[in-house]
Amino acid sequence: MSAAEAVTDALRDLHGRFAGVREGRRADYIPELTRSDPDDFGLALVSMDGHSYSAGAADTPFSLQSVSKPFVYALALASLGLEEVSRWVGAEPSGEAFNAISLEAGTGRPANAMVNAGAIVTTALVPDSREAPAFHRILTCLSRFAGRKLDVDEDVYASESATGDRNRALAYLIRSARALPVDPVAAVDTYFRQCAVRATAVDLAVMAATLAHGGVNPVTGERVVPPEVAAQVLAVMATCGMYDASGDWLLRVGLPAKSGVSGGLIAAGPARFGLAAYSPLLDAAGTSVRGYAALGALSERLGLHLMKNP
Ligand code: GLU
Repeated sequence: MSAAEAVTDALRDLHGRFAGVREGRRADYIPELTRSDPDDFGLALVSMDGHSYSAGAADTPFSLQSVSKPFVYALALASLGLEEVSRWVGAEPSGEAFNAISLEAGTGRPANAMVNAGAIVTTALVPDSREAPAFHRILTCLSRFAGRKLDVDEDVYASESATGDRNRALAYLIRSARALPVDPVAAVDTYFRQCAVRATAVDLAVMAATLAHGGVNPVTGERVVPPEVAAQVLAVMATCGMYDASGDWLLRVGLPAKSGVSGGLIAAGPARFGLAAYSPLLDAAGTSVRGYAALGALSERLGLHLMKNP
């Protein structure tokens, strides 16, 4: 069997194996997310030669939510460099939930760019000007990672904007520690729009593959971020991407990853592939139940664990 056939077979098999899993629940603190179909389940893998493999609902669009965070972190790093970004946001696993109200003692810096507090700061670091507003830069960057023009799910944006007081409170708290360089209301509004950007599992696999490919989109051939930025982002995804389940994920699955509360999940094998899953039913840590199970099983089946000597 060729490598391509093995991947196609594995995705199809795992889709079949986990499609019947009914555990978990949709995030409802953003009411619009409860309109997603709990049966939707898509898997996608994109190789370094830009070939894409998929199974199930891999072309169903959904909002990125926290899956946007590594890519906006990449944009901030590419714009300002690691030293400047690190003045504002750390790179330590927080061991806490995604929306924890917790900042570094003394500096007020959020622990890392994958939890909400750090992601709001990262978004706030994206250069903003009249000619090139921050959100325009973010949407353009996310689109270049995906290799096609993405758009915003305005209903999801409006829904999170109407209910997102916890994130606003976090932004005010960070500013009170002089650790937010801009207006909290504007920063959170841009952050909500970034979370509402819509993409499919195939798009997400291309985005993850771009990080795995040293910052060059393997489908379009475009360089999106410098190689050192892609490596920095993958490093933070490996230690912090799965929130308070990051250690357990790295132990069992062994890949840099990022989950989001709409049910999206990405993982990357440096110099090898980008992977994505979509299924809206979430576990207690806010990760897609079927996504976790399927990517875990895929890692096992194809020997993808990075710490493993093949
Ligand atoms: N927009 C969501 C929030 O800020 C993202 C959280 C997530 O996907 O984990 O609560």
